[in-house]
Amino acid sequence: MPELPEVETIVRDLSKSLRSKIFSDVIVHDTFLLRQKADDFIRRTRGRAVDKVTRRGKAIIIHLASSEFLVIQLIMTGQLIAGGQKDKHTRLTFVFSDGSRLLYNDQRRFGQLRVVGKLDEVKHFNILGPEPFSKEFTPALMQEAFRKTIRPIKNVLLDHTFVAGIGNIYACEILFRSRLSPKRQARRLSRTEIKTLHQHIIAVLKEAIAHRGSSMRNYRDGSGQKGRFNERLSVYAREGLPCPRCGKLIQRITQAGRSTFYCGHCQK
Ligand SMILES: [Zn+2]
Repeated sequence: MPELPEVETIVRDLSKSLRSKIFSDVIVHDTFLLRQKADDFIRRTRGRAVDKVTRRGKAIIIHLASSEFLVIQLIMTGQLIAGGQKDKHTRLTFVFSDGSRLLYNDQRRFGQLRVVGKLDEVKHFNILGPEPFSKEFTPALMQEAFRKTIRPIKNVLLDHTFVAGIGNIYACEILFRSRLSPKRQARRLSRTEIKTLHQHIIAVLKEAIAHRGSSMRNYRDGSGQKGRFNERLSVYAREGLPCPRCGKLIQRITQAGRSTFYCGHCQK
């Protein structure tokens, strides 16, 4: 499942590759992923120029010159591939006036695409917490949110109403870097620990973006390439392997139905 760094990598690639292009055609091979009627989706996309491409949480937002927005949520297995060949997982083909193509592929079909006049028409955006790189996401705000919950810190990090864009991979890595046990109750964290956690949330996500994300299973960046951050993962999917810090074995537990990987020795 692509998380913030993977989606940010795609957005940066698309910002360059789609700059001032015009959608000359949109071919819907599978209407299942559209959140509106196909003819409405096509009508509001075809002939429109791309203004810019941005991100909110894990969603890609293509700003159209018509002042509308093409919102793409990759969810589980969605991929946007520039210039690739259509295959059995291609659900939409976007054709541009210069002849170039952008494919939307999605093996498991959990992705969602829609054109909206206003971003608040996307219900998900209204419940989404702050962006981790925004000014409003501060240690003070974290402390305030932690006070209101009895959940373990790992589960709070995964809660997109707390902060946008963090999924299972980065939650595990952030807690490892912060030397915090995923089982700790968020409300029990000290002010210093919250500050450390805040720093590592930003540092880990920035480092992952610099390495073009992690490639677990289906993620590909905008040119169909894998990310390199998975070579730098310390705990995620490393059950039974030595901790890079202390050499003790990485453990796996289940929290809120998700696997958590951590070092029981250096994460307290
Ligand atoms: Zn360790």
